[in-house]
Formats: sequence, C-alpha cells, structure tokens
Amino acid sequence: MEDKSTNKSEAEQEEVQQTTDETCRCQGGNDMKTIQRLCHQIATEKGFWKKGKDRNNGELIALMHSELSEALEELRKEKPDWKHVAEEMADTVIRICDFCEARDLDLNEAIWDKLDKNKKRPHMHGKSF
Ligand SMILES: [Mg+2]
Repeated sequence: MEDKSTNKSEAEQEEVQQTTDETCRCQGGNDMKTIQRLCHQIATEKGFWKKGKDRNNGELIALMHSELSEALEELRKEKPDWKHVAEEMADTVIRICDFCEARDLDLNEAIWDKLDKNKKRPHMHGKSF
C-alpha cells in the first residue's frame, strides 16, 4: 500500500530505507552505541516495546538464551549451515543491545572495561578449561 503522506511508492520508500541502512553501515554506523540504539529502535518500531509498559528482565534474558539455543540446534545437525549459526549469533547480540539500550546501559564501555580487566587476569583466568 502506498504511503500518501510522502507521495512515494512502496518501491521508492524501500529504496530510501535501503539507502539509509547502507549509509548507516558505511558511514560510522557500525560503532556499538549506534548499533545498540538501532536495535532498540527497530524492536520498538516492531512493537516489542510499548509506551508505558515495561518488560520483564528475566524474560528478556531468556530470549537472549533462546537465540543461542537456536545456534546450538543448527550445530547439532550433521551438516550445519554456518550462515544460519552466524545469524543466530547476530540475533543474540541484537537482543543484548536492545536490552542495554532499554536499560540505559553502555555496552560499548562495559565491553572495553571488561577487556581491560580480562587482560590483567592470569592465564586462562586461573581455571582449567
Ligand atoms: Mg533467531
């Protein structure tokens, strides 16, 4: 259905969206904060977040687990489709980014802080595996 408010056909609107997405990917749109914001924006636009209605933290974390389980199920196949595994890994990161943006957590900073912390830990963090 054509959007009368912009006088653009669906194909034209799709092209604009695709250009926007490509621009976002190519012009510095790959930094973690941008990705985090975009994940939450898309989840909100798709109705997963409703104004005035919060979501349960436990449920959101369970949904992160579910994406890893989907990756595991693919890997259990005799000939796993690695592209599908990557997609499920992306789903996991997208859900984590969405959660962090919704809870005002800076995932980028948390990752850099944790990497600094890990660099200072002993070999294999003092564990056997
Ligand atoms: Mg998935």
